[in-house]
Amino acid sequence: MSAQLVAALDIGGTKIAGALVDGDGGILVRARRPTPAREDGETVMGAVEAVLAELMAGPLWSGVTALGIGSAGPVDASTGTVSPVNVPGWRGFPLVERARAVTGGLPVRLVGDGVAMTAAEHWRGAAQGYDNALCLVVSTGVGGGLVLNGRLHPGPTGNAGHIGHISVELDGDPCPCGSRGCVERIASGPNIARRALENGWRPAPGGDPGAEAVAAAARAGDPVAVASFERAARALAAGIAATATLVEVEIAVVGGGVAGAGEVLFAPLRRSLREYAALSFVHGLTVAPARAGTDAGLLGAAAAALPVARDDAPASLPG
Ligand SMILES: [Zn+2]
Repeated sequence: MSAQLVAALDIGGTKIAGALVDGDGGILVRARRPTPAREDGETVMGAVEAVLAELMAGPLWSGVTALGIGSAGPVDASTGTVSPVNVPGWRGFPLVERARAVTGGLPVRLVGDGVAMTAAEHWRGAAQGYDNALCLVVSTGVGGGLVLNGRLHPGPTGNAGHIGHISVELDGDPCPCGSRGCVERIASGPNIARRALENGWRPAPGGDPGAEAVAAAARAGDPVAVASFERAARALAAGIAATATLVEVEIAVVGGGVAGAGEVLFAPLRRSLREYAALSFVHGLTVAPARAGTDAGLLGAAAAALPVARDDAPASLPG
């Protein structure tokens, strides 16, 4: 086991998870609270403080050298603030300052959840060993992150690689972000389901009308369900191809609930990539399912924190 030990927080709209993580990605201590997402900002912070207090109560805490936070976005790492879409009580909330105060002045690194997932996949998942990678989270929204030249590339505010809001349809539907024709507007789970419903697909009576049910129908051969996944795959492929053409990523790792559709998504995604990633230098682009699993948020927050850990840090660090 590496001597380095960091604390990690994974903050989402439904849960706040915390852990102590060693330098090999081992999770030694865990804590967790539901996110009081509809409450005021101080109540949400209270849940974060409860998770931190639980981590700090154990004997390992004295060895912790930094805190990494992966949060639902948008985040602004340059100001240390977060404004998660699904936590309305937090708008420009000074999460870094508050977390630093609770932890007695530990170095804190904040990244968006897409960047955290990317850090996890590069450290312990499907992007391991790749110096240039794009990772995508396709679920309720579409997020992502970049590894460039062997290092995590969060960008100045911690949002770089946010592929969900690249426009792939110039005259497409307006997107809640203010643009139109975004990847997310076509490829997110709710949009896959919406399009299938609009075109006549129906869930089984009493069944859930979500993307998972559309995936099951596609697997059973329902042409409307298949078409909705194919359209999502084309949007993802166009975004991935654009990214690969710009910065020469060698692998695109796709995770999130919608990636659970498996070949229903990945087969048309590979096919569409051959169409959109046309130049010779992007022909070798690999697409792979995410591998870091349910702890990706925590591992990614930890990986993001390791380079700022207060220590005689080893030369080789993830991220
Ligand atoms: Zn958008």
